[in-house]
Amino acid sequence: MASDTPMMDELEKGPWPSFVTEIKRAAKKKEAAADLLRSQEQCFVEKQGLWKHGGIVGVKGYGGGVIGRYHQRPEDFPHLQAFHTMRVNHPSGWFYTTDMLRKLCDVWDKHGSGLTNMHGSTGDIILLGTTSDELQPTFDDLSDAGFDLGGSGSALRTPTGCIGKARCEWACIDTMNFIYDVTMTYQDFLHRPPFPYKTKIKASGCPNDCVAAIARADTSVIGTWRDELRIDQDQVKEYLNSGLNVEGLVVGRCPTDALEMVNGKLELARPEDCVRCMHCINMMPKAIRPGTDTGATILVGAKAPVMHGAVLSTVLIPFMKMEPPYTEFKELWEKIVDWWDENGKTRERLSELIDRVGMGEFIKAVDVPPVAQMVKVPRANPYIFWREQDVPTLDDFKKWRLK
Ligand code: SF4
Ligand code: SF4
Repeated sequence: MASDTPMMDELEKGPWPSFVTEIKRAAKKKEAAADLLRSQEQCFVEKQGLWKHGGIVGVKGYGGGVIGRYHQRPEDFPHLQAFHTMRVNHPSGWFYTTDMLRKLCDVWDKHGSGLTNMHGSTGDIILLGTTSDELQPTFDDLSDAGFDLGGSGSALRTPTGCIGKARCEWACIDTMNFIYDVTMTYQDFLHRPPFPYKTKIKASGCPNDCVAAIARADTSVIGTWRDELRIDQDQVKEYLNSGLNVEGLVVGRCPTDALEMVNGKLELARPEDCVRCMHCINMMPKAIRPGTDTGATILVGAKAPVMHGAVLSTVLIPFMKMEPPYTEFKELWEKIVDWWDENGKTRERLSELIDRVGMGEFIKAVDVPPVAQMVKVPRANPYIFWREQDVPTLDDFKKWRLK
């Protein structure tokens, strides 16, 4: 018998595990999943989406965490009349016990379509598709199991960090502790959207930036070190003996030419030029390690919208120590969001506001002095501005020369 979803079947034939297979599996138990399969096929036939976005739905005491979703044609797809998404705050570093995963799935089998997205691009557990009546019971059961809702709408979105010190030897900061701390400190901003638009905090333990903080977060926290990277010469020898082309692939590809091979030893010849890019460390992980004076670079203004206008974040603080309770970070972040909240238009992300009023205005407002690390093109850069009294006169130069 011919399938009534031929295009969905076609999609399933690719080399990777397919979401179509999972929807078909769920469709055996849930009518909403069966309708979803047919609806998706219809979207392909008509070459348009059939969802209405929005509608205010939620759970008691929360303004975020639920994304209202309704079908345009409930008469044809009755089990999709309401098909709301719930965002659930994931644990730091995405560590679960199998017991917790089972609890989560049981809650969703009981109240929703059974379909999940592990994880959404912000990091949350995404539970796809339930009705308005089931939202509160789902939330209550999730709370009993120890889960909380994440951020949605014009809120602080669920903070996310890499696994950091839990498993990764490159971690310069304890990302899991930091993310847990800011999530708990700023609960209100997550649950009751107070801002002009969404804002995100993401933390990576080192410049490899596994959570893509620099590409996605309005406030990116990226672990780094301010002393020199450490080199173990015995291990360098091992790499040389194993045939690694250290000269060509490591020294030759350092972006700032900071490394040198001297008499069979790998040396950081120009430490002041090292930009902590991680290339040499990634190439020779047993021989090179980050330094020991560790902290984070704080950057602002990334966003990755679906349509256009992706922006990478810009350095604001080149180095900040990151120890609990993270007071320095929190004071800075609160100044940033206060300024944005005060000056941002509706649906204006931080980077868009900075673009509109200028980086100079922004750093003045958050009381951060301009520094060279903010500069992309010296002398043609709008972040650096001089007041007349800061500019030396010719007489000043003459005086200095005579000293
Ligand atoms: Fe490890 Fe760095 Fe990736 Fe974090 S960002 S998991 S510290 S490599
Ligand atoms: Fe060069 Fe990057 Fe290694 Fe620094 S971390 S020495 S910039 S390759």
